[in-house]
Amino acid sequence: MAYVITSICERKGACYDVCPTDSIHFVEEDDNAFEEWSTYYINPETCIDCGACYAECPTEAIFMEDEVPDEYEDDIKKNLEFFTDGPGKDMV
Ligand code: SF4
Repeated sequence: MAYVITSICERKGACYDVCPTDSIHFVEEDDNAFEEWSTYYINPETCIDCGACYAECPTEAIFMEDEVPDEYEDDIKKNLEFFTDGPGKDMV
C-alpha cells in the first residue's frame, strides 16, 4: 500500500519538498513526455506511508491507494506505469 497522487494534481510541489524518502518524481514541463505524464507520481517501492505529502497537498490530490475516489481509480494504474513503463523507470 502506498499513497497515490491523482490527476487532481496541479504540480504545486509541496509534496516533493516534504517527502523524506524522495519518492515523488515527475518530468519537467519541457520534456517530450510531459504531455502524457503531467502530474507528480509516488514510487510505491520507496514510499513509507508517512502521510507528509498528503498533509501538505494544497489541492488535496493525494490519497491512500485504497481510498482513491472511484473517478480517479485509473490514476492508481497510471502511477504504477510511470515507474514500470514510463519515465520513472529510470528514476528509481
Ligand atoms: Fe513520501 Fe511520505 Fe508521501 Fe510516501 S507518504 S510519498 S514517503 S511524503
